[in-house]
Amino acid sequence: STEEEWRPFNKTRVYMSDLESALHYSLRVELAAHVTITGADLTALKKYINVLATYFSGRPSVKSALKAVDSWLQEQEGTEIKYSDFRDVLDSVGETSDAVLPEGVQWVGCQGSQARYRGYPCSVWNLFHVLTVQAKEIDDSDPLEVLQAMRGYVKSFFGCRPCATHFESMAQENMNKVTSLSDAVLWLWSQHNRVNNRLAGDLSEDPHFPKIQWPPPELCPNCHSVKWTGEHSWNREEVSAFLQNYFSSDRILSDYLQ
Ligand code: FAD
Repeated sequence: STEEEWRPFNKTRVYMSDLESALHYSLRVELAAHVTITGADLTALKKYINVLATYFSGRPSVKSALKAVDSWLQEQEGTEIKYSDFRDVLDSVGETSDAVLPEGVQWVGCQGSQARYRGYPCSVWNLFHVLTVQAKEIDDSDPLEVLQAMRGYVKSFFGCRPCATHFESMAQENMNKVTSLSDAVLWLWSQHNRVNNRLAGDLSEDPHFPKIQWPPPELCPNCHSVKWTGEHSWNREEVSAFLQNYFSSDRILSDYLQ
């Protein structure tokens, strides 16, 4: 609610509380809108959960919960599952271990100046930036794995339907140009900037968190350069190094975790 106390935070850091809140909201709120999950939606859910179980570098108890849900889901061979069965598994994983996905949302870096701003969509971006960087740290995987999981999740389940349509058309346009894990990190960064550009000045913009081309020069001076024509250009090597550090698992802050 708007009455909640403001949690002071560092605007230049990623918070685990936002990522866990994203997981809670996607698995207990967005998915709950589907009584049964079948076909392409079921495929998308399996990929999403599998990517989380593989790459999400959170607290051990949360990782165990994701792994338990993933094993259950991968065993489901039928053409449909009931959301209530998925939910029962998610909520009972702790009975035989310390596995748990905390209930509820607690936005920190994704707090909005009012309740209608930021929150979940902000945390979804953060979650997938972290996952693309994580996949690159682990290496050796399919460069499109995380992006395909995000694309499928957004298309099948993301509650903001115009967002899903926009994101799907961006993915159709050029996601197939991604051929390495570094490309995947940069692809998501650059699509996010396209969205920022489209939304700058929009009604959905939190006046305290204006949509900018990110990272701004204060955060990464070397990411920016100017062509001889005077036009701005990104120094992609520097951006890549910046993202790799900014979203790396050992930099994520644990303040305010439940
Ligand atoms: P967000 O854009 O949510 O960004 C969160 C944080 O990520 C920022 O605070 C910053 O720290 C960091 N960041 C910013 N830019 C980048 C970047 N380029 N790369 C890496 N990190 C960055 N809203 C609409 O109204 N219409 C849409 O079509 C739409 N499409 C969306 C599609 C997707 C897939 C998602 C996840 C969200 C979409 N949204 C859309 C929501 C919108 O993009 C914002 O998430 C929302 O307005 C909240 O904005 P925010 O200020 O928290 O910043």
